[in-house]
Amino acid sequence: MISYQFIEHGKPLQKVLGETPKPQGTEVLMRVTRSGVCHSDLHIWEGYFDLGGGKRFYVKERGCVPPFTLGHEPFGVVEALGPRAKGGKAGVKVGDKRLVYPWIGCGKCAVCKSGQDNHCVSGSRYLGVNRAGAYATHVLVPDAKYLIDTRGIDDAFAATLACSALTAYSAAQKLPELGAKDEVAVLGCGGLGLIGISVLRAAGAKNIVACDIDDTKLGVAAKLGAKRTVNTRTPDATERLRGIAGALDFVGSPVTAGLGIGALRKGGRYIICGLFGGELVHPLPPIAQRAIGIIGSYTGSLQELKEVVALAKQKKLRPLPVETRPAEQANAALEDLKGGRVVGRIVLDFETVDA
Ligand SMILES: [Zn+2]
Ligand SMILES: [Zn+2]
Repeated sequence: MISYQFIEHGKPLQKVLGETPKPQGTEVLMRVTRSGVCHSDLHIWEGYFDLGGGKRFYVKERGCVPPFTLGHEPFGVVEALGPRAKGGKAGVKVGDKRLVYPWIGCGKCAVCKSGQDNHCVSGSRYLGVNRAGAYATHVLVPDAKYLIDTRGIDDAFAATLACSALTAYSAAQKLPELGAKDEVAVLGCGGLGLIGISVLRAAGAKNIVACDIDDTKLGVAAKLGAKRTVNTRTPDATERLRGIAGALDFVGSPVTAGLGIGALRKGGRYIICGLFGGELVHPLPPIAQRAIGIIGSYTGSLQELKEVVALAKQKKLRPLPVETRPAEQANAALEDLKGGRVVGRIVLDFETVDA
């Protein structure tokens, strides 16, 4: 198999030829055909998250130690089943195309057993986060139950459902009940924010306010269904957002947090999934007095991904712009993402790689 790995944090990925693993037990070996490139890949590649005040969280503390293969939006074809892999019930057989749910927990703790693998408390196995991911021709999946049939959805778009659409969907579930005139702000119109607008529309939200510092991205946001757009570099941005019922923060910086929380109406909720970094300093009494919610959201559950796939199959999710590039361009893709030059999502094509 071939993987694109970083051998050292922050250094260009290298093309590495390795032994293709044999699936053991319940494992399934997938031959990757498409692999989405996510903004959080940049943080893992660089090796840390910025906690503000000069503090950092290093990814090695959660088991991500180089050499490491990124990639948590895997899509591919079943290549081999382990001796105890449940082909039957899940209906998986060699040759089937499947989307992989990457937020795999230990499978044993009470949280995992309740179906919340993405909140696992005792040993997560998130693909491309602390287990080898899908910037590779092959990826091992611990169990067939994490494979989802996306027939009818374009393969590259299907890949992006595993992180960006799922994260947006799970965050949107945490909004307060919306009245007819209630507005929801989408903070940041990168890959997550743009699909977030589609997800909110599919969920029935009518008054979406797209916010970004890039007018090109705001233009795409308007096309996807945002009712109005706010360039947050303008000095009156908070005023223009004042009274929103909810904010989905796909950036997660002190600026976007200040904007989202500051503009909430009473009873509103600010939901953060972006991992840009920094810290939040906020006076305490108004949180109670304004009865606002500040809620974190991390990816989503397997069941939620199935719901997202169902929405996409019913054509209820307007696809965001997806650019498919040969896997050889993985480094350029990361650099473009880092430079803010990507509108929508880049998906790497691994069918172009000779394994
Ligand atoms: Zn992601
Ligand atoms: Zn667990």
